[in-house]
Amino acid sequence: MPRTAPRRAASDPLARYRDKRDFTRTREPAGATVAVESLPAGSRFVVQRHRARRLHYDFRLEMGGVLASWAVPKGPTLDASVRRAAFHVEDHPLEYYDFEGVIPAGEYGGGDVIVWDAGTWDHYYQREGRDPVDAVGHGELHMELDGQKLKGKFVLVRTSVDDAGKESWLLLHKKDEFVVAGWDAEEHPRSVLSGRTNDEVKADPDRLWRSDLPAAEAAIALHPPTFEPVSRAELRALDRIGAAGRWEVFGRDVRLTNLDKVLFPPRGREKPVTKRDLVRYAAQIAPALVPYLTRRALNMNRFPNGVGTKGFWHKELPSHAPSWLTRWDNPNADPGETLTYLVVDEPAALVWVANYGALEWHAWTSRVEDPNRPTYALVDLDPGERTTWPELLALARLHRTAFEHLGVEAWPKLTGRRGIQIWVPVETGPSFDETREWVERVSRTVGAVVPELVSWKWQVRERSGLARLDYSQNAVNKTLVAPYSPRAAAGAPVSAPIEWDELDDPRLRPDRYTIRTILRRLDERGDLFAPVLTTRQRLPPLH
Ligand code: MN
Repeated sequence: MPRTAPRRAASDPLARYRDKRDFTRTREPAGATVAVESLPAGSRFVVQRHRARRLHYDFRLEMGGVLASWAVPKGPTLDASVRRAAFHVEDHPLEYYDFEGVIPAGEYGGGDVIVWDAGTWDHYYQREGRDPVDAVGHGELHMELDGQKLKGKFVLVRTSVDDAGKESWLLLHKKDEFVVAGWDAEEHPRSVLSGRTNDEVKADPDRLWRSDLPAAEAAIALHPPTFEPVSRAELRALDRIGAAGRWEVFGRDVRLTNLDKVLFPPRGREKPVTKRDLVRYAAQIAPALVPYLTRRALNMNRFPNGVGTKGFWHKELPSHAPSWLTRWDNPNADPGETLTYLVVDEPAALVWVANYGALEWHAWTSRVEDPNRPTYALVDLDPGERTTWPELLALARLHRTAFEHLGVEAWPKLTGRRGIQIWVPVETGPSFDETREWVERVSRTVGAVVPELVSWKWQVRERSGLARLDYSQNAVNKTLVAPYSPRAAAGAPVSAPIEWDELDDPRLRPDRYTIRTILRRLDERGDLFAPVLTTRQRLPPLH
């Protein structure tokens, strides 16, 4: 519905409603859906079926920049002979308009929510130069609803206010052409957004509402985003650009520079890796990689002149960066510390990162909405000069056994340099101190089995060339190289997820896969790290 469309045709005020009704009648029975984002802002209404302590329907009308709200225990009805009790509750932020998902137990309104109906409302008042907010204040609001389920003329009337200020109202449907005798909301239980029921949403929610956060950040996505792959046409266009130019990719216009500069010297007889190769890889790997970066601050390990020159950590997003890049200001930044970070939450942003000369992509292990609480605990198996590859594999296997024994799921990946990391996804909750202590206890137990292989000294030179089981990375703003990120070394090796059983593959090496070989592996094996994005587990207490 275009915003410029007339709200109603003067000659036949109900023509639009009739058209709409015929349309929805054919769709309503099974999973009718409404494109809420295309509803005109300013006059929307929503009814959410909310199973909190008690089941109720939240009837919300957009007015005065908020959602004026009533809780209707039995739900609205199209039956004109029935009056429903409604309780005026606090206004909700507009961001809540299309929320469907779960509110954590213990929080206000804890339970599950579906968008039971949505559409627009016409409140008569504006035409008469009156304000619907005043009408609510006066205790009587007339409206016409144009939703998927609710249509026609409705009235909200205040009946009483108790000593505590609790307002009792009635919601009723006036006699009009949309009346359906005996119509019961509970017989129309599906969401108009997803077609799902409350039970289905509760079993596999897409979103979580965190009422302790600002409204704009309160809806937390529980599923990793999915992205379309870069198209062949886009890749051909990249090859046609000279040393520099603009690349239209993933719907963005990214300025590319020095495309033919060698960034990675060759390994063996391979060809060197140019910036064009890196940019191409960034576009190809982005759909798999961006889910690991999204909602996290990114630290970029930059080598603008390539491997072999001095690189540096770049954290502050430069002010000249394109405005479409997502930025995050660290609220805990000390004076002089990096304030504004890049958040890579779309594939084009990773292309920008590659062009910026960042050869390694390291994201925080916490999300921007909760920077002090990690979503992964991790073990970094850091070999010393004397550590052999079989010894490192032995340390990895011992950790695998320890995690199995503890009933904890963990996933290994090659660092692309010399080491192996093990990521343990955790349900957001424990602090970094807690995950660090937990990992330290596991690793010290493992290390005690093979004391001849492990040093607990902080200083590299005091380690006598032994391996370190590094739990100290479990801290805020410590960054671990992202899966599939290149490493600044000859041949452009990448940090490649592996299956545990691959530890027994005699061909395995920590830098085995490169930006030239990992895409085929990803095609063949899928993303072996994907469960890390969706697994939510609690770390068991250690005794
Ligand atoms: Mn509610």
